[in-house]
Amino acid sequence: MAKKTMMDKLVALCKRRGYIFQSSEIYGGINSCWDYGPMGSQLKLNIKDAWWKSMTWDRDDIEGLDASILMHPGVWKASGHVDGFTDAMVDCKQCKERFRIDDTEGEKCPKCGGEFTEARNFNLMFKTHMGPVEGDTSLCYLRPETAQGIYVNFSNVQMSARRKLPFGIAQIGKAFRNEITPGNFIFRTREFEQMEMQYFVRPDTAGEELERWREQRMRWYSSIGIKQAKLRFHEHGPDELAHYAAKAYDIEYEYPFGWKELEGIHNRTDYDLSHHSEATGKKLEYFDEASGERYVPYIVETSAGVDRTLLVCLVDAYEEQDERVVLHLSPAIAPVTVGVFPLVKRDGMPETAHKIAAALRRSYKIFYDEGGSIGRRYRRQDEIGTPYCITVDSQTREDETVTLRDRDTMEQERVKIDRLDEAINRAMAGWKAEGS
Ligand SMILES: [Zn+2]
Repeated sequence: MAKKTMMDKLVALCKRRGYIFQSSEIYGGINSCWDYGPMGSQLKLNIKDAWWKSMTWDRDDIEGLDASILMHPGVWKASGHVDGFTDAMVDCKQCKERFRIDDTEGEKCPKCGGEFTEARNFNLMFKTHMGPVEGDTSLCYLRPETAQGIYVNFSNVQMSARRKLPFGIAQIGKAFRNEITPGNFIFRTREFEQMEMQYFVRPDTAGEELERWREQRMRWYSSIGIKQAKLRFHEHGPDELAHYAAKAYDIEYEYPFGWKELEGIHNRTDYDLSHHSEATGKKLEYFDEASGERYVPYIVETSAGVDRTLLVCLVDAYEEQDERVVLHLSPAIAPVTVGVFPLVKRDGMPETAHKIAAALRRSYKIFYDEGGSIGRRYRRQDEIGTPYCITVDSQTREDETVTLRDRDTMEQERVKIDRLDEAINRAMAGWKAEGS
C-alpha cells in the first residue's frame, strides 16, 4: 500500500464516519480548516480529558488555567513574537506560488521552474482589531500559543493556590498561526488547539526536570494506546533551538508522510518571566522561605497539539484487513465504547437491547443501531473504532445472555446481561496496543 494512499483513505474514512469534515464544505471549503464531526469531537474531548487528568488529577503539583485568547498586545512584544515570530518566504515570479525558504531547494520554483522574489519575513500572528475603530491603538492578536497566558498569570496562580516550587500550570486552548504552507490534513493548520504545561522550577534543577518530563510525556502516549515503535525523541541541535530555549526535545511520530514532531519539551530558562517582568515593571519572582533565596524561576514546558495527537491516534489505529477496515483505538479514548444491537427488529429483541443500552449509558458512550444486517453494523463500528459490540439474539430470551464481540479479535463470547458491565470493564483494563 502506497503511503500517500493511506492518508487519502484515512481522510475519506474520517468524512464517511463523521470524524472530520472540511470546513465550510458547501462553499467549496477553506484552506487548512477542518470541522470535527460527531465522532471527531468526542475523540478530541477524550484526548483532552486524558491529558487534563494526567496533569491535574493524577498528581499533586499542577494547577489548571483557562486564559483568554485575546491578550494585551504588549505580551507579544515582550515575548518576542511581534519581532521574531516570522517565516522567511519567497514568491514565484511566474506562477505566484508562495514558499517558506525552509521548504525550497535551489533557486527555482518547484512547481513551474520560475524565478523567486527576494526573501521577505512574514509574521505568523493573526491580527485583529478590538472595538469599532481600526487603527494602531486597537490592534491585537489571536494568540499564537497558549503559553504566554500561563506566564503572565504565574503570580496569580502561585499566590491563590499557595504553591511552592516546583509546580506547574496546565492549559488547553486554541491558538492561531498564519502558516504559509499548512497541510497534511490536520497535521498543520492555521487554527489549532494546544495542551501546554509550564513547570516552574529552581534554575539549577531545570536540566533534570527536563529529562524527567520527557520520559513522562513519552509514557503518556503509551497510555492512550500509541505504539512505542512509532515514537522517538529528537534532541534539537544548536541551529534548531528556539531563541528562548536552553535545551529541547521533540517527541516525534512516524506519520505516513515521515517522522515529524508530535510534542515539544523545552527548557525555556527564565526568558519568559524575565521579559514580562522587564516590560511591566512587575516582579515575577519566587521567594523560597526555606532557603531565603529570591529568584526568577526557570520553566520546563511540555507543548502538545490536540489535533496532531488526534491525527496520530487515527493513523496509529488504522488497519486494512481482507474484509474490513478497522480502527484499533484504545478503549480509553475511543469515541464510542459499546455498540448495542438487536439481531433483528422483532421478538422483543429491540426492547431488550434498549434496556441494556440505557443501563450501560451511565458508564460508557453507547451507540444503538438496529438498521441493516448485523455484519454491516459490525463493519460500521469497526471503522469508527468501537472496541465492543453487544448483540441481543434469540438465545437471550432463554438464558439472559448476549454476545459480546471484541473489535480487534472479532471473537464473541456469551455474557449474562447482569455481568456485562464487569466484562466490559475487565476487557478495557486488559487492552493493549498491538506490539506494546
Ligand atoms: Zn512557479
